[in-house]
Amino acid sequence: MRDEDIASKYENCLICPRKCGVNRLDGGRGVCGMGSEPVVNIYSLHYGEEPVISGTNGSGTVFFEGCSLKCVFCQNYDVSRGTTGRGITYSASELAKVYLELQEKHAHNINLVTAGHFIPTVAESVAIAKQQGLTIPVAFNSGGYESVDSLKLLEGLVDIYMPDMKFFSSSLSGQLCGAKDYFEVCCEALDEMYRQTGPAVIGSDGLMKRGLLIRHLMLPGQLFDTKKVLDYLCGRFGNNAYISLMNQYTPFEYRYPDMKLPDFLQRKLPQGHYAAAAEYLSILGQENAFLQEDASGDELLPDFKT
Ligand code: SF4
Repeated sequence: MRDEDIASKYENCLICPRKCGVNRLDGGRGVCGMGSEPVVNIYSLHYGEEPVISGTNGSGTVFFEGCSLKCVFCQNYDVSRGTTGRGITYSASELAKVYLELQEKHAHNINLVTAGHFIPTVAESVAIAKQQGLTIPVAFNSGGYESVDSLKLLEGLVDIYMPDMKFFSSSLSGQLCGAKDYFEVCCEALDEMYRQTGPAVIGSDGLMKRGLLIRHLMLPGQLFDTKKVLDYLCGRFGNNAYISLMNQYTPFEYRYPDMKLPDFLQRKLPQGHYAAAAEYLSILGQENAFLQEDASGDELLPDFKT
């Protein structure tokens, strides 16, 4: 895209389903809280993703600040609010250099985390990096609340989509992220992602090359909602996509003083709920799944069974 075409996307911002319509070039800020230049919190080799993504060398992860979803229970609350004070702005060509640096460090892939509110610039950055020699797969790691029009800008640039499907219930998504339309929007976004990549492909090295890896973080007391999400995903994509069922929800209020959790989220998952959901996934016939070891503790990093 030409620079002026990219800029125009931020001028009357409709990049994500919030459709704020603000001018991010001119100091306007919408729900994501970000201007027009991508802000990167940190980039590094990351070993905590699913084995098909992290492999042995790690995933070349780029964490963007800000978020258009802003779940009240966010496990990276300060990054999603853009309040870390550590974020640095990058242009598209500077981002391309970051990807190439991670490739030089033998990352298995580039993993763009919560970049949805910067899609026009991020698409350009990947295009530049590919022209300059980026050959490893590019993964787009998202909360699942993305606009189909914006996702189309990533066609031919992103190889792997790693979206969440967080909620089925509109009252739950309305309460926890102010998006009653989350499920419908997420369904359309996942369909577009699948249209672009097709069925999941794992290479002979055991690493994911293309396709969807859909994540669901279980929330305390919401086993029924989890089962509805799994019903949908297995019915829609089945073993053509990977499903990652996550159990590491932790109430982080003590770490982030601004975090205000409803009562039902002020605890960990009830015992047995994760095992029940995992069994349900199996009953649904899902073989392409990642499950986590039972664990607790606020320093928990995902630990996947293969
Ligand atoms: S990207 Fe940000 S400003 Fe644009 S519509 Fe989404 S939340 Fe609003």
